[in-house]
Amino acid sequence: MLLRIFSFLMFQALGAWLGHQIAPEALRIRGMLAGMLGAGILWGLYDFTRGLRVLQWLRTDALAVAPPLRLGLWGQVAERVSRAARMRERAARESELRLQNVLAALQASPNGVLLLDAAGRIEWLNQTAAAHLGLDPARDLQQHLVNLVRNPAFTAYLASGQYGGGVTLPGRAHNSVNPVRLSVQLHEYGEGRRLLLSRDVTLVEQAEAMRRDFVANVSHEIRTPLTVLSGFVETLQTLPLQEDERARYLDLMAQQAERMQALVNDLLMLSRLEGSPPPGEGEWVALPAMMRQLQQEAQTLSVVLHPARPDAKTRMVQAQGGQTLDFEPTPAYELAGANNELHSALSNLVSNAVRYTPTEGTVRCGWRLLEVDGRLDSAEFWVQDTGPGIAAEHIPRLTERFYRVDRSRSRETGGTGLGLAIVKHVAQRHGAELKVESTLGQGSRFALVFPAHRLRPMVAR
Ligand code: ADP
Repeated sequence: MLLRIFSFLMFQALGAWLGHQIAPEALRIRGMLAGMLGAGILWGLYDFTRGLRVLQWLRTDALAVAPPLRLGLWGQVAERVSRAARMRERAARESELRLQNVLAALQASPNGVLLLDAAGRIEWLNQTAAAHLGLDPARDLQQHLVNLVRNPAFTAYLASGQYGGGVTLPGRAHNSVNPVRLSVQLHEYGEGRRLLLSRDVTLVEQAEAMRRDFVANVSHEIRTPLTVLSGFVETLQTLPLQEDERARYLDLMAQQAERMQALVNDLLMLSRLEGSPPPGEGEWVALPAMMRQLQQEAQTLSVVLHPARPDAKTRMVQAQGGQTLDFEPTPAYELAGANNELHSALSNLVSNAVRYTPTEGTVRCGWRLLEVDGRLDSAEFWVQDTGPGIAAEHIPRLTERFYRVDRSRSRETGGTGLGLAIVKHVAQRHGAELKVESTLGQGSRFALVFPAHRLRPMVAR
């Protein structure tokens, strides 16, 4: 401001001096006044052009180009405008960056996020919401959501205004082979705006259905022997029975109690397998000793289930019963793992073969060391039977809990329906693979393949 007054006064002084110099002697005062007037007009014009330059600068891009003036009032105006514009731009950039960060975080969310304006049009959505609802994140912006997601339950939920409970609907990729279930929840915010969150609940629903089925199955499995048991108890309490009848009823009761015990034992085994960390590789199990124990158990079971017929031929390795059991010589190796788990898995495979193979059939089993390029690659425990075989469509489901191909044979022979589920868990915990090959009417072959690093030759003691 001082500069402005100073320059004006300088112009006036210069005008007065020039007027004084140029005017004749008698008109000096008038000349000075005229000079001052002229200088005032010149100063005004000069000031006006400076103002015009600033205006011109403001009209173009006040930020891209530096201010045209630095000094004087116009210089200050330009400088302040430039500074204010720079600050505003920085603030805008920062808030844009914050917005981008928030959107990137929402984009990274495993849940679908979609923003609706007050009219129900899509303002923004992340990729997950787009995939869940079958929308296009670019094309469908500003479209009414209700026109794009055509599901009666969802339309009713959107229109209800009561968003508390959410709604579950099939996802865009849903089909009968691969079901996809979405949980969708709306939340109100701002003025009439809504936030939609979508979550893939397919696995949660499947797990819930499995849990319900499991509880129903266990209850059913326990209820049957319990009903039989309580029936016998009532009979024993109310009817005067002969001694031999009493003994027969008690035998049947013991059978049912054993069945429940087997079921509870298998359930406990399964829950231990699921709830505990996998066994370390510090414990070594000698294969020959384990196989001897398995052979004894198999022979006992075979004799009970398949008593010998008078014409039964005798073989070198044969049970006392009618069924032929062939245990091949076991390699002198040790396997790293939990003894009780490995025994349970192997004995389930052997006892299944004994139980499902008819009396005149044969069950073979043993260990095979598999080499690749002359080096031990893995070891396979295999059980082969000449039983009824299993149709191909059942094989992928055999390890499901309570899945039975032959329901009555399983129950008659004391099966719980949990044996192969236990085998699968033990295999997973020991890095092994369960292989099933079967031909209907010819027999089955079950094998567990253990990796070489879990094996070592037996140490002589
Ligand atoms: P279960 O206690 O009923 O035997 P598992 O889980 O051990 O239950 O086996 C599941 C089903 O697989 C059995 O019910 C049976 O139908 C079938 N299965 C298992 N092993 C054999 C086999 N060696 N031969 C024929 N069917 C078998």
